[in-house]
Amino acid sequence: MEDKTTNGLKQQRERRNRINRIKTGIIATIVIWMLVSMTLCIVLLFRVVSLQKQIDMLTAAGVLTEQVEQTENNASGSQAVGEEIEPSTEDGEYVNNYDMPSNAIMVNDESNLAQEGDQLKAYLTFDDGPSSNTAAILDTLAQYNVKATFFVVGNEDEESKALYQRIVDEGHTLAMHSYSHKYSAVYESLESFKQDFTQIQNYLYDVTGVDCQYYRFPGGSSNQVSNTDMNEFIRYLKDQGVTYFDWNVASGDATSQAYTAEELVENVMTDVVKYKTSVVLLHDSDTKDTTVEALGPMIEALQEAGVEILPISEDTTVIQHINANSVQ
Ligand code: ZN
Repeated sequence: MEDKTTNGLKQQRERRNRINRIKTGIIATIVIWMLVSMTLCIVLLFRVVSLQKQIDMLTAAGVLTEQVEQTENNASGSQAVGEEIEPSTEDGEYVNNYDMPSNAIMVNDESNLAQEGDQLKAYLTFDDGPSSNTAAILDTLAQYNVKATFFVVGNEDEESKALYQRIVDEGHTLAMHSYSHKYSAVYESLESFKQDFTQIQNYLYDVTGVDCQYYRFPGGSSNQVSNTDMNEFIRYLKDQGVTYFDWNVASGDATSQAYTAEELVENVMTDVVKYKTSVVLLHDSDTKDTTVEALGPMIEALQEAGVEILPISEDTTVIQHINANSVQ
């Protein structure tokens, strides 16, 4: 009897122990599962935040370029481009100074407004090359015996190297537009700007033997993408003896509106007649076939209007959105 009772108790105890073990196992599994889920949630949250930041930055860059160019296209008469590109009031870092310096002028400077009988000058400038369109652009320029200015970025393939050389050999002005053209990297700090600037200047010198003296800021000097005070970069370029050029006439070939070649010509012709010196913004990139298509007709229209087409040189009136001479 006693044995039976003892056995029964033993079995009960074992069963209870087994149930307890199973319970502990289930609880442990749930706890581990919860911990893993929470960790995953946190990791994903960080990813989302960082992606959102990148999206904001890219949007800012795209929207800005578009705004600037549309402003340029819409600029009429005394409606000054420089005035329309409002300096950022949030950080107060952008200075629009209307004091007129010797050679550099604001885009809308009265001294640059065309008067009867003025010999108008236009400087065709191509940003972002070399690209698969550069050769066609050079062919057209050669066909009309017209010289232009190429604000190039750093491409290391052999084809691009040959194009830098061809730009130089055919008498155009080779100028800099940053090495990487990545807003976030170029404008991250003065250090990163210096590094990128030195890289493009040295690279172009190594490839072509030309010591480039002209620069165009990605997005222009009035861009509101840079988190670093643009004046720091302007000061640096001045110390290097390098002149930066913005533009006062935009063809509109980088806006979201897909202009036809005729419209690009029309955009340029509408504005060029307003200024003694027009620096015309065009783009040389793989997707800008319309720009290539517009180039011949654009040159013809300019020549018909008696506008002289020239490459940027030290004689060129410097068109700037932020006047370098206002930056000490
Ligand atoms: Zn660009």
